[in-house]
Amino acid sequence: MQPQTFPLELPVTWRCPLPLRLVATAESESFREHPPGTTGLPLPPHPGGFGVVRRHHVHEGVDLYAPHGTAVFAVEAGEVVAVVPFTGPLAGLPWWLDTYAVLVEGPSGVVVYGEVTPTVCAGAAVAAGERIGNVCRVLRHDKGRPTSMLHLELHAPGSRTCPEWLDTESRPSVLRDPTPYLLTCCAAPADLLAQP
Ligand SMILES: [Zn+2]
Repeated sequence: MQPQTFPLELPVTWRCPLPLRLVATAESESFREHPPGTTGLPLPPHPGGFGVVRRHHVHEGVDLYAPHGTAVFAVEAGEVVAVVPFTGPLAGLPWWLDTYAVLVEGPSGVVVYGEVTPTVCAGAAVAAGERIGNVCRVLRHDKGRPTSMLHLELHAPGSRTCPEWLDTESRPSVLRDPTPYLLTCCAAPADLLAQP
C-alpha cells in the first residue's frame, strides 16, 4: 500500500489549535509514547484519522488527544457562526458525555472545534490563536485510551451544522479533510508531503 501524501500548497496556513506540539502518527497506540508537551496528529489507519471507517460511521474529523481542560485556540481568524451541542444527551447521543462544538468561519471554510466546553458565543469575532474553548471529557468509560480530545472538522463555507458521515453513504458534500492544514502546524515529515 502506498503511503498517503498531502498537498504542500495550501491557500492558508493554520496555527496549532492546542498548546501542544503535534506529531504525525498512523499508529493507534502511539499516545502511550508521546513525550509531555506533544500529542499525535492521527493519520489513517489510526482510528482518530480523517475518513477512517468505524463501526457505524466514517470519522468526520481528526482527534487530537489532550487532557481535560486543555485550552483550544482558533487556527485562523474568523467569526463564531454557531455553538451547538455535539455529543451526549444534549445532542441526542447519550452514550457519550455532553460536549459542544464551536463553528468558526474563516479563510479556509468553517472550522469545527468539537468535544469542547466553549468560551465564546455565536457572533463573536476571534483572532488566530485566540482561545475558543477547553477540551473536555467525552468518553464515559476509561478503556485505557484517552477519554478527552479535540475533534476537529473542516467544512465548506456556509456550513452551520455537523452532518454525520454514514458508512453506507458517500461523504457529505460539506466535509473537507483538515489533515493537510494540521500538518502545516506540526512540522510534517517530508515523506508525508507530496512534491509539486
Ligand atoms: Zn473524532
